[in-house]
Amino acid sequence: MARLPGLGPRSAQRAVLFAIKNENSFLEQLINDLITVRDHIRKCKHCGNLDCGDICSICLDVKRDAHQLCIVESVADLWAIERAQFFHGRYHILGCVLSAIDGVYPEHLNTKSLVARVNADRITEVIIALNATIEGQTTTYYIADVLAGLGVSVSSPAHGIPLGGEFNYLDDGTISAAFLDRREVKLSKVKVA
Ligand SMILES: [Zn+2]
Repeated sequence: MARLPGLGPRSAQRAVLFAIKNENSFLEQLINDLITVRDHIRKCKHCGNLDCGDICSICLDVKRDAHQLCIVESVADLWAIERAQFFHGRYHILGCVLSAIDGVYPEHLNTKSLVARVNADRITEVIIALNATIEGQTTTYYIADVLAGLGVSVSSPAHGIPLGGEFNYLDDGTISAAFLDRREVKLSKVKVA
């Protein structure tokens, strides 16, 4: 348990003691759930999402826009975007981002399958939604370069001030990114309280 990400030895000990103490109401169910995960969860052959089949429910959903593709680093990032319920296209999970320290180079990104998918699915728009870290941004530029010339619109989410954020509490990098990504104030959209 202590080897699980996010759990140190003390938290792991608390979790194990809780499980032992609640053998009937918790531990049995946990064991069954873990067996279900082991036996049924698969990596989607199209996007890399996790689901109970070879093709995930997002890729199978005909109501989603098959020509809009969002590139994310991990399944957790996909789930975060899905929670917000505004994106109705499909995904491509990279699994990693470029990082010299971690030994991740362009050949590890498997961009061949990405390019093949963009062509095969006649993708018209690609949104590269990688973390706002140096590695994430380097990877964004690399992928944008790979996709250049394929006739797709390539964008990435804006960086800057979070909703409800106050300048006084933001770091320098966030403030400068927000100024660089500034946009015109559209008067028609402004509602004065
Ligand atoms: Zn999928």
